[in-house]
This record gives sequence, structure tokens and C-alpha cells, in this order.
Amino acid sequence: MNITKPFASTLDLIGNTPLVLLGGPSEEAGCEIWGKCEFANPGSSVKDRAALYIIRDAEQRGELKPGGTVVEGTAGNTGIGIALVANALGYKTVIVMPDNQSKEKMDTLRALGAELVLVPPTKFANPGHFVHTSRRLAEETEGAVWANQFDNIANRKAHIEGTAPELWEQLEGRIDGFTCAAGTGGTIAGVGMGLKAFDENVCIALTDPHGAALYNYYAHGELKAEGTSVAEGIGQGRITANLDGAPIDTQFRISDEEGLHWVARLLKEEGLCLGLSSGINVAGAIALGRQLVAEGRKNVRVATILCDTGFRYLSTLYNADWLSSKDLPVFPWLRDAAGRSD
Ligand code: PMP
Repeated sequence: MNITKPFASTLDLIGNTPLVLLGGPSEEAGCEIWGKCEFANPGSSVKDRAALYIIRDAEQRGELKPGGTVVEGTAGNTGIGIALVANALGYKTVIVMPDNQSKEKMDTLRALGAELVLVPPTKFANPGHFVHTSRRLAEETEGAVWANQFDNIANRKAHIEGTAPELWEQLEGRIDGFTCAAGTGGTIAGVGMGLKAFDENVCIALTDPHGAALYNYYAHGELKAEGTSVAEGIGQGRITANLDGAPIDTQFRISDEEGLHWVARLLKEEGLCLGLSSGINVAGAIALGRQLVAEGRKNVRVATILCDTGFRYLSTLYNADWLSSKDLPVFPWLRDAAGRSD
């Protein structure tokens, strides 16, 4: 039996996530495709790892003291991770988010006890942007620190010291490729650096959604976006501090339709309910697997990240009306449930 030892602290529940062989994707790629189950973290996403490292780093630097406050500008998984870790360590959480975000997200953050500050959505250059507002709030609040997930490299350290060694051990030191998409870039850069330290020959690929600028940057040296995507949590337009120096060997661009195809198949064929970034990652992993097989590597093994639970997207990805409103294909079983014929 493969069961972990009991833990002395709830924070130990973060990381050490299971790794699972994905049947359909492996068959499609003609090699092994493995998924790291980050939805199994307490906050149901990969961002619990970064939240824990960012908070521990602020403590070690002496910036975060007992009873202090963690402030971040985020609408999603990072806020949830920070709120949970802060609760476990006795800190307060303030989350700044644009007021056009889903009610589910606001309700979730409030339910976890975070203080929510809503600001109108604006361009990044506007000082009222939620990221700048969160930095200012942190500066103005006594005993507060700004998590700054994009440019705080404690984020990628969580993956250098956690995710990468876990993958190496789980695959018994035999891994040919790793790929995932970038939001802050902490995961791709950290896992890439961590795996390369074990074996230079592991191929690290960036999987970019449409609407992001990194595919063009790594392929042609220019930050340039094309198209759009509804995927949440991924899609970056600049080289963040976390991405700086990331060992990217190759890159793929994956459409929402292709990502959704895999979200649907993973649900129906493997019994995994995931968010769209996971579907995009799996499509990228298949592309990488095929490329490595074509290059003549034998018994190829590729790993990717299953970033968060699909239960977070019941009113979007798993809702027929929402999918239709975005001109995206509706999963057949949702169409049937809604009595639709389109
Ligand atoms: N998928 C989801 C659902 C996310 O919330 C995030 C975090 N923004 C990512 C992927 C990307 O992770 P990272 O920030 O480490 O690049």
C-alpha cells in the first residue's frame, strides 16, 4: 500500500501531491503522459505551494510578524492559498480584486475570512489597477506585507524545492519532458530549474494559451500576443522575475478549443474534473511527447500539471449557456441536460 505518513501540521498537507498516468493522453501521444494532481492541495490548486513559500519567506526576512497581514492583488487561486495559509499561521489576509470577477470567487474568498477590496477594472498602467492598489495598501497598512506573486521569486522556489524533486522521485529519475502554461511563471520556471539540476537532458517546454505573449518570445524573441483565451490563471505578457532565466527549450501554443477537448475527455474517460489550464497543459504535454518520440527518444515520459479543480468553474466551463456565450463547444452531456439541440 502506498500511503503517506501522518502529518503534525495542516501546512504539511501542501505539496507532495500524487502523480497519475493519464490513459487517453498517453495513447494519443504514443508515450507516457503523467499528471501532477495539484488540485489535491488543501486550497484545491497549485498556488497553495507559492502561498506557503511567500509567507514563510516574509517571516524569515522578518517582515511578517505575529498578527500581521498579507496583502495581494489576485482574483483567484493565489488568494485562496494565501487565505488558508494565513489562517493556519494566525495572519490576516487582504485581497484586492477587480469588481468584474465572478461572484463565486468573491464568495469563496469571503468564506475563507479574507477581507475583500473591490476596485474597478483598468489597464495595468493605471495606478488604480488591482495589483498597484494591493501594493499601496500593503505599504499603508501597519504590519502588512505584499505577496507580489509575479516578481517574488519565493514563488518559483516552491517548485524548485518541492514540485521538481517530487516529480523526480515519483518517476524514479526517468523523465524526458515537462511542460505547463505560465501565469506568474513560478511553476514552469521552478520545475524547469529543479528538473534540469537533476538532469540537463529533460526537455522543458512552455505551453502558452492564445492571447499570451510568451510563445512568441521564446520562439522569436519578441513579446507579442495573438488571439484570446478564456482560461483563468494563465497567459502572461511580460517576463516576470519568476520567468527570468527559466530554462525553456521549446514551446507550444494551444487553443481554448483544444484545451476544452481534453477537459471533457479527462472528465468522461478518466473521472477527473479540472479547470481549463489543466486541459491546455495536457494538450501541450501530448504535443511535447509526440515531438520527443519523433526525435527518436525511446520509452518517452512527459509530466505536466493538473492545476486546479473544475468545481471552481461550475458557472463557466461546466455551464452550457456560458460556453455558448463564448462561442465555445458545449460538452454533449451538458447539452443533453439543458435539453438543447445546438
Ligand atoms: N492554472 C491556474 C488555474 C492558476 O490559477 C495558475 C496561477 N496563476 C496557473 C495555472 C499558473 O501557475 P503559475 O502562476 O505558477 O505560472
